[in-house]
Amino acid sequence: MRLILLGPPGAGKGTQAQKIAREYGLYHLSTGDVLREALEAGTELGRQAKAYIDKGELVPDEVVIGLVKEKLGTPEVSATGFLLDGFPRTLAQAKALDALLEELDQELDAVVNLEVQPLTIVDRLAKRRVCKQCKASFHLEFNPPIVAGVCDYCGGELYQRSDDQEETILRRLNVYQQQTEPLITYYAQQDLVINIDGERSVDEVSRLIGEQLAELTNKHDCA
Ligand code: ADP
Ligand code: ADP
Ligand code: ZN
Repeated sequence: MRLILLGPPGAGKGTQAQKIAREYGLYHLSTGDVLREALEAGTELGRQAKAYIDKGELVPDEVVIGLVKEKLGTPEVSATGFLLDGFPRTLAQAKALDALLEELDQELDAVVNLEVQPLTIVDRLAKRRVCKQCKASFHLEFNPPIVAGVCDYCGGELYQRSDDQEETILRRLNVYQQQTEPLITYYAQQDLVINIDGERSVDEVSRLIGEQLAELTNKHDCA
């Protein structure tokens, strides 16, 4: 399967992506995680991305498109399929992805669109905690780790992202509405969009996505 997870910051993309990728054996690509890792490692990519991430703005298209091409163009990913989380975020990125997939003779199966209200987003991001090691997402109230400060999955240390503070959150939300939301229409025109109520609990959202993906794989098997 080849999937995109779409939705505003804090919609639950990362949370659901980890579950789906594990269940279906898909390669999970979070461009945000890759950029933050590069930033920590102090690579050229990290240096290019830092100012944008700090401000809550998008890293330039050519930088992100370059990294996605590098990751998706491998034989391993062609074999497993993929789940994109946080990419594409602009029309230019979506078109570049279409061109890349055509080159690879691959097609997207679905775009899962997580719908949540702006107020929910601020609540979720302000209390988000992320695992330094495996990047799993937790929430102090809605999805707390079993042991405070420690990742349930790998025992890694949890931290708060520097861009998860109110001012930057509002900027990111604005950027989403201006630059990313139009992608819903773009993919609806290709009849790929599956809308999911992202306001429900983590488990409930997983169940809803699971149902839709099961239907999708059934259709493929029958075809
Ligand atoms: P995204 O990758 O879309 O930015 P995350 O998966 O990191 O979002 O989730 C943002 C925050 O909201 C995290 O703190 C996460 O634990 C929490 N969260 C995710 N899904 C839900 C949900 N369905 N209900 C309540 N909180 C959630
Ligand atoms: P969230 O899901 O909480 O919005 P991400 O981890 O996906 O956060 O992204 C964090 C930051 O990384 C973004 O605000 C942006 O600066 C940068 N980034 C991630 N993915 C992209 C992308 N596809 N295009 C441009 N910038 C990106
Ligand atoms: Zn972890």
